[in-house]
Amino acid sequence: MSFGKEIFEDIETFSKLECKLFGVFGLNNNIIRYIEYNQSHIKKLQIDNDEYKSQIKELQEEINIIKEKHRECKERNEELKNELKSKSVKTCSKCGKIGHNKATCPNKNP
Ligand SMILES: [Zn+2]
Repeated sequence: MSFGKEIFEDIETFSKLECKLFGVFGLNNNIIRYIEYNQSHIKKLQIDNDEYKSQIKELQEEINIIKEKHRECKERNEELKNELKSKSVKTCSKCGKIGHNKATCPNKNP
């Protein structure tokens, strides 16, 4: 809250106008009113700030869950890749046929 000379002058002007228009001499009350208004405003800002903080905390927790899921998916993907690799048909590196390998290749001169 700022309560400088400018604000005081504003309140004074406001009070003079109030006095002129409604015959109320309320400078002191207006100062108190202004201070109270600002204090409640600050309190509201603190409440909003606390709400934002808890929202941010919730979002961070959600991000962590998503990160964990992403890690699990990556792992599962690797597992499936390896599974696929082991299930894929092996061909002979010498002749390219299936059912044997280079060491047992019946094709002596490909
Ligand atoms: Zn072969």
